[in-house]
Amino acid sequence: MTRYIFIIGGVMSGVGKGVATASIGKILQGKGFSVTAIKIDPYVNVDAGTMNPIEHGEIFVTDDGTECDQDLGNYERFLERSLSSDNYITTGRVYEAVIHKERNLEYEGKCVEVVPHIPEEVISRIKRAGQKDKADFVLIEIGGTVGEYQNMLFLEAARMMKSSIPESVLFVLVSYLPVPHMIGEMKTKPTQTAVRTLNTAGIQPDIIIARSELPVDEPRKNKLSLFCNLNLADIISAPDVESIYDIPINFEQDKLGDRILEKFGIKRKGQDLREWRRLVAKMHGLKKTVRIGIVGKYFQTGNFTLMDSYISVLEAIKHASWANGCIPEITWLSAEQYTRSPKALEALQEFDGIIVPGGFGSRGAEGKIRAIQFCRENKIPFFGLCLGLQLAVVEFARNVCDLKDATSRELKARAKIPVIDVMPEQEVLLKEKKYGGTMRLGAYDCIIQKGTKAFTAYQKTKISERHRHRYELNNEYRDELEEAGMIMSGVNPDRNLVEIAELPNHPFFLGTQFHPEFKSHPMNPHPLFVEFIKASLKK
Ligand code: GLN
Repeated sequence: MTRYIFIIGGVMSGVGKGVATASIGKILQGKGFSVTAIKIDPYVNVDAGTMNPIEHGEIFVTDDGTECDQDLGNYERFLERSLSSDNYITTGRVYEAVIHKERNLEYEGKCVEVVPHIPEEVISRIKRAGQKDKADFVLIEIGGTVGEYQNMLFLEAARMMKSSIPESVLFVLVSYLPVPHMIGEMKTKPTQTAVRTLNTAGIQPDIIIARSELPVDEPRKNKLSLFCNLNLADIISAPDVESIYDIPINFEQDKLGDRILEKFGIKRKGQDLREWRRLVAKMHGLKKTVRIGIVGKYFQTGNFTLMDSYISVLEAIKHASWANGCIPEITWLSAEQYTRSPKALEALQEFDGIIVPGGFGSRGAEGKIRAIQFCRENKIPFFGLCLGLQLAVVEFARNVCDLKDATSRELKARAKIPVIDVMPEQEVLLKEKKYGGTMRLGAYDCIIQKGTKAFTAYQKTKISERHRHRYELNNEYRDELEEAGMIMSGVNPDRNLVEIAELPNHPFFLGTQFHPEFKSHPMNPHPLFVEFIKASLKK
């Protein structure tokens, strides 16, 4: 029997609903159950692939090539399982499917209406994901907050599920309790209002996860219990924590897992979170640090620095650092500064390692190329991810192969020496303006050459990694690059595409056409990140 837990947000977004969902999943896994998770994004976009990372945060990619919300990354990292297209629902996807069915006469002449047909489609997708993943528990995170117009139809789907299988459905409200500095007291009223609003959608939360700067004390728990129709034990205190990996442990202090099982009337089958606790305890005990710089462009909005655009990179650095017995100090470095003032490059010396992550378009590219050159010439460990690999190849072609005009066709459409070129099928798609979901996406095989850094990391010759790109190393220049010393240490066997390039005689200089960061888990750090951090520590 599958149980469904809906996770709904109250008061405001950005309080960690995704990580709360992942943490509930981790706790239930720890009690011996199989868990899967679904993210519902209320926007009309069919997927996240067409959105700017500054707008949306990282675009996560699954093995089956779904470009989705970064929360799926959190789910995968906590649940240590790989998810698919079925775990991601958007308004765009739901309407697209309903309209498609209508055109195929699948509603058999009925008038197709927003209600019930849209919520019914949502419900069938939720159930399908649960069946496919053979889950005891399906967690469904509804994006946005209660009271928004956008997620109403998803709340309606949740309500309909509760009314048809009440014993199998639970609602968790992740709400925010502000502590305004001018008052100095934690306020419960916004959460009370959120619960009332949820009630108007026909939903009574079973549990409130009370997110706040501080732990929720007894008087406030009493208030929430009285005004929101809940037992005291159903209010889980969730104060800010140092690391997101503390959260399952924190929830368990208020016995969230047992409370959920009690409500469903089931007993736990396993013992809780032992390995997870061990990892978190180890992480908190680490003293040694490693300084990593990330040269990118998707983090500045107005006066604020966003970290969400590169969240998987950030997490992968953490996992690999812990495996190396250290904690990372990460600095965001804006690529454009290196073209404005080349002197800024000198500051890269202060870092133990530099990462150039994925990206699109020409803004910042020349700055990244200069940073890569600086790392190559000054023997600073360098790790290029996707665009990072492509620009490392451009830099090498220009400055080592002496091909001054070398570039990527993404940067210059009429490139004379396109060492990075658009893949033929991608050129057609771009001409036809078919942008959505058409890149080379998802998992592809790669054969690793023995005796290389890549092999040292993976310790095997056949791997599979996730991709998201239209451009690729141009094989016409491969001999020239190899003769000058670049090693193509990973190649896709089906299309002979270069997937990993590296330089010998350097502490670590390696780029991947794929995104290794998507497959790094706290318990299972990514081997390339582990090697990169190891080399960085030596510096
Ligand atoms: N813009 C490059 C491409 O399309 C790199 C993409 C990426 O970094 N994910 O190939």
